[in-house]
Amino acid sequence: MSRTTVATIHLGALRHNLARIKALAAPAKVMAVVKADAYGHGLERVARALDAEAEAFAVAALGDGLRLRAAGHRQRIVVLSGPDQPGDIAEMQRLELEAAIHHEAQLAWLAEASPARGRLRAWLKVDSGMHRLGFPPGRVAEVHARLAAMPGVDPRIGLLTHFAESENFDGRATAAQIARFDEATRGLDGPRSLSNSAAVLGWPEARADWVRSGGLLYGLSVVEGRSGADFGFRPAMTLSTRLIAVNRVGKGERIGYNGTWQCPEDMPVGVAAIGYGDGYPRSAAAGTPVLVGDARVPLIGRVSMDLVTLDLRGAPRARVGDRVTLWGPELPVETIAAQAGTISYDLTCGMTRRVLFVEDER
Ligand SMILES: *Cc1c(COP(=O)(O)O)cnc(C)c1O
Repeated sequence: MSRTTVATIHLGALRHNLARIKALAAPAKVMAVVKADAYGHGLERVARALDAEAEAFAVAALGDGLRLRAAGHRQRIVVLSGPDQPGDIAEMQRLELEAAIHHEAQLAWLAEASPARGRLRAWLKVDSGMHRLGFPPGRVAEVHARLAAMPGVDPRIGLLTHFAESENFDGRATAAQIARFDEATRGLDGPRSLSNSAAVLGWPEARADWVRSGGLLYGLSVVEGRSGADFGFRPAMTLSTRLIAVNRVGKGERIGYNGTWQCPEDMPVGVAAIGYGDGYPRSAAAGTPVLVGDARVPLIGRVSMDLVTLDLRGAPRARVGDRVTLWGPELPVETIAAQAGTISYDLTCGMTRRVLFVEDER
């Protein structure tokens, strides 16, 4: 093995999490969101684990839909930003992918689509307040009518919107988005989809026909200050490596690049084989917890490309070769994300190509 850094993907956790989302969302159906290589867990791996239970997948881009079809998945697949260029449409028809339609430019391309290739299923994306993608509420009825009249488009048009802060369960913004979406789509036929993971937990009135869940599928936190485990979800990734050195360093000596951390006494310092070159965040501050065996110890000094340094005073029996866990069921990735000034999604999406991925049934 060229590298000791391993991301273990827990297939049992993925299945458990999907079952739990389905139970929470019922009677709404669930689109399993597998964009960004399944939030860094591996698109094909996750889709294979969920194939029997997932009613639909959602991806960011056409290429991911192609990968799912190539792997043999027959479910409905929604491409959340639709075609990016005119040539994408024929490809989406061929692959029977469904397209979120959010922009005038896409309408012009779709108007040219030939029904001979099969009618494309479209989801009209409404901008209910996030102001990223979507048609303004005032244009929804007109765009719906135009889409329904296009020969290359299936007349069963879906209606979609996305929340900007559904993790804020007491806030007004989501309630306002729901109201704007309801108003804009009143009287129009077609399945509706509003909720992401946080909304599944906090906004039951927005479950509609389909929810689109990503974070919870991987057991990630979708509410600040709470972990996925707090809501009964199980982390689907463990990131681990090995201890490759244990050194005694004298009082007053400084550790690592720029000597940002100074030893307060003579002490054991461990070195683990992982760094930002693997996707462990360089911004992780001194004090970020790491598990050496079962002992929780603080990171010290700067995270470098291939290595991190650890204060082993709390793990006096630590030896070269010991397993080091950076995050996983025993150490929430949310804790690391908070120390690094980011969110858990950013960390799991950031695993680099030199990390070895393995699977277990846990
Ligand atoms: C990423 C995404 C989702 C899933 O969001 P989670 O918070 O991870 O559940 C749903 N809908 C759209 C449009 C997205 O881009």
